Amino acid sequence: MLDCEVKNGWLQFLEFIQSRCTHTEFENWIAPIQMTSGNSDEIVLEVPNIFVQEYLLNNYKDLLRDFIPVRSDKELALTFIIATPKKTAAPLKPVEERPSVENSGYELKLNPTYRFENFIEGPSNQFVKSAALGVAARPGKTYNPLFIHGGVGLGKTHLLHAIGHTIHEQQKKLKIQAITTEAFINDIVDSLRAKSIDRMKRFYRTLDVLLVDDIQFLQNRLNFEEEFCNTFEILINQNKQIIITSDKPPSQLKLSERMIARMEWGLVAHMDIPDLETRVAIIKHKAENKNLRISNEVAFFIAEHIFHNVRQLEGAINRLCAHARFQGTELSIEAAERILNELIQPSNQKKTSVESILQSVAAAYEVRISDLKGESRQKEIAFARQVAMYLAKEMIEESLMKIASSFGGKTHSTLLHAWKKISTQLHVNEDLGRQIQMIRRNIEK
Ligand code: ADP
Ligand code: MG
Repeated sequence: MLDCEVKNGWLQFLEFIQSRCTHTEFENWIAPIQMTSGNSDEIVLEVPNIFVQEYLLNNYKDLLRDFIPVRSDKELALTFIIATPKKTAAPLKPVEERPSVENSGYELKLNPTYRFENFIEGPSNQFVKSAALGVAARPGKTYNPLFIHGGVGLGKTHLLHAIGHTIHEQQKKLKIQAITTEAFINDIVDSLRAKSIDRMKRFYRTLDVLLVDDIQFLQNRLNFEEEFCNTFEILINQNKQIIITSDKPPSQLKLSERMIARMEWGLVAHMDIPDLETRVAIIKHKAENKNLRISNEVAFFIAEHIFHNVRQLEGAINRLCAHARFQGTELSIEAAERILNELIQPSNQKKTSVESILQSVAAAYEVRISDLKGESRQKEIAFARQVAMYLAKEMIEESLMKIASSFGGKTHSTLLHAWKKISTQLHVNEDLGRQIQMIRRNIEK
């Protein structure tokens, strides 16, 4: 029985969602849901599978409250039933007649420019790159899985595809699949709808190399996670190579313990923000590829002002290219500054150097700069050093590794330790707060 008001609420919900999500998303996830009965106490939704139910609740639970009745316990008055596959009168086509994933859908899709030759190396990515090269040279025989994590636009997808290209060129027979986590999930859903899930499973489980991009999208998708984990185990147990990228390390992902443990089996490698010299090298490389001639001065200028990710550096080069072509002039720093105006970060922080911090801290605490860079554990010196490290982390937009190395080659964990210690003391020690404010003003002068 369908209550008119309830039905209207559902239809309005559908309309609202349709205007807010992509066509594919709507067709895959929302359109297959049928309301079979509904009144103010209970609404029954028929879904083709559990994934669709989960998708609806994970994404739209709160929104649904505005459209359909809520029970006295504040829960949605919703019940789900899984649709039983409809029996068709016509006999099912034999499986062979339908195009199989192996023959039809399989195509290795890699970005043609994401290759090792185009990947500029520096301290921030050296370790990851060499791990990637190792895996590409001997898939399944070194680190398995290789888990690459780091912030947006730092080159994770680039390295993932570079591994794919190399394996593909060196071992033509190997079956490689490069896929985003989102596409993997859509594959499962499409296969469920087309009743070809077994074929899909078979396809994934017979791969030699699986490249999975952005695994963070598997978070909160319980059933998909299980399917992924099963595939993962089957492949790893046969020494098939898996490479995964993510914006976080495994331990920080909201995934099951089983899944996290599996991802930590092999090598977990972190990609940091490239330091100044590497950014300059990347800028020059990208400019060269586009036949844009820029001086070292301009390259340094860009690298000093754009430091969060490589994609932004590319954006800057593209912009300069457009202008340089039209104007045919040699690029001056002033011109670059004008053209890149919007991309450039506010400039009061970036000019601060470790040297200026060391100078101000040394003066304030009456110690020598060489002591701050040295190893002395004498109380006053060690404390001043920690304050300097705290300020450096606060005021300088560089990778921790780079900053730490300016303190006479300390490690980033020493720097982080100092920063944490001073941060904690600042909560309880007002005098320290005032001292640090004063030093800060002195540095910013
Ligand atoms: P992520 O996947 O980490 O978000 P991408 O791999 O998509 O980042 O990289 C963003 C852009 O920056 C790509 O065009 C990539 O080619 C480029 N890029 C990133 N790191 C480097 C590098 N070290 N050398 C050359 N290009 C890089
Ligand atoms: Mg990426």
